[in-house]
Amino acid sequence: MITVEHLTKCYGDFTAVSDLSFEIDEGHVYGFLGPNGAGKSTTMNIMTGCLSATEGCVRINGHDIFEEPEQAKRAIGYLPEQPPLYMNETPAEYLRFVGEAKGLKGRELQRQIEEVLRQAKIGHVKDRLISALSKGYRQRVGIAQALLGNPEVIILDEPTVGLDPIQIIEIRDLIRQLGENHTVILSSHILSEVQAICEKVLIISQGKLVAFDRPENLEKLLLASNGISFTAEASEEEIGEVLGGISHIAEWEIQVQEDGGTKVFARTESENVKDICRELFFAFADRKKAILEISSRKANLEDVFIELTEGESGVTEE
Ligand code: ADP
Ligand code: MG
Repeated sequence: MITVEHLTKCYGDFTAVSDLSFEIDEGHVYGFLGPNGAGKSTTMNIMTGCLSATEGCVRINGHDIFEEPEQAKRAIGYLPEQPPLYMNETPAEYLRFVGEAKGLKGRELQRQIEEVLRQAKIGHVKDRLISALSKGYRQRVGIAQALLGNPEVIILDEPTVGLDPIQIIEIRDLIRQLGENHTVILSSHILSEVQAICEKVLIISQGKLVAFDRPENLEKLLLASNGISFTAEASEEEIGEVLGGISHIAEWEIQVQEDGGTKVFARTESENVKDICRELFFAFADRKKAILEISSRKANLEDVFIELTEGESGVTEE
């Protein structure tokens, strides 16, 4: 449905997006995940025809966004990072204006305005000034304008930024609902957000695509960082012998403690961390050595993100 090929965008001699290629299929919720400055907004602006590319192309349903902008843009509804709302208008007036700009008229325009007011759940505030609405409601107005013209794809740039926790939950629910009959692409620098809403995640770092997968597979990508920490009453040598006999432990670090215990942090690429803990327990018990404490940690998307975007600033900013 959307094909992005070798997309590059340079601002002067700074490359904001570098040789980005991916495909978006119909009917899923996709997440662009990346720290601030990764190139998410630049990519979205190019995909929606709001910004030119230095190199590469974007095709929407086979239509090149630069060569056949009308056909291509008809399939897309876009909520930019800064929604272009007119504060001294009401949602009803604003949606009429946007609808007309999208070529809707008369009864069809009226019907669609009512439909998007309903979908974005803003019918009851449609005659208030936008300036008097909360940030959450303004964001809904922005989503409503993206829905006008009934596009197949809805692109939302950081739709929950600046909202309070309750508004965030409401907007996420709305996005999930939209995902039932649209292809939705949203961007976010918040991991838990894409994990909660998206079926597929594109991780963008320094203008490059570093991963494109389902959230659960991205976790698998970094299974090697599943870790088990334990303290055993055993010597460094004995610990090496035990760990060497356990199949899924690839590497470990040892810290001899002053009180005679030895602290170990072991990594495993196995998903069944519990089984390995059990194996460790009995291996030490067989040697009559006590494990004083043991804990395990599964990698999550956060680890994948940090690993893949390592070296960038602002990674954990939220
Ligand atoms: P994101 O949306 O992921 O935070 P952006 O796409 O907004 O990232 O920006 C990517 C990079 O391009 C950033 O380093 C940003 O400073 C730079 N950039 C964005 N727009 C411009 C511009 N108009 N001129 C120069 N640099 C820009
Ligand atoms: Mg941005």
